[in-house]
Amino acid sequence: MKKVNAFWREKTLTEMTAEEWESLCDGCAKCCLQKLEDEDTDEVYYTNLVCRYLDAQCRCKVYNTRHEKVPSCIWLKPADVSAFKWLPDTCAYRLVYEGKDLPSWHPLRTGKPMSTVKKGKSVLHWPVIPDDAVPEDEWEDHIIFKAE
Ligand code: SF4
Ligand code: SF4
Repeated sequence: MKKVNAFWREKTLTEMTAEEWESLCDGCAKCCLQKLEDEDTDEVYYTNLVCRYLDAQCRCKVYNTRHEKVPSCIWLKPADVSAFKWLPDTCAYRLVYEGKDLPSWHPLRTGKPMSTVKKGKSVLHWPVIPDDAVPEDEWEDHIIFKAE
């Protein structure tokens, strides 16, 4: 059996190499769901509307130009993780920031790039709708939960 280099248990987010940092993403695409912020309370709500550029394998169709195509697409950097309080509680960056281990289905633990999707942990297992299929003034009707 191949020994896993569990760097995420040994290093902080800021100590990781660029390659380790990239590999930490589990590919769940929960951060690709549209979110709405209550301006009075700063609370953030997830909708079931997913970015139009997510493909059927849960991958970004425009990865290299995503920040040009979708200005609101997050560009997560080590110093920013604490600021993104809305990240889902399964997000690997949030877990490591909070000193927690990665779940058993994470690709870094399974050695299989698609294990998040295969274990039903991605948005592909939710009743999502592409965001360009719904007018923006109706997005509020698609709220599914509040970010914690
Ligand atoms: S929520 Fe976190 S782990 Fe999931 S795709 Fe986004 S950055 Fe990656
Ligand atoms: S551009 Fe790609 S990474 Fe960004 S929100 Fe859309 S699908 Fe997700």
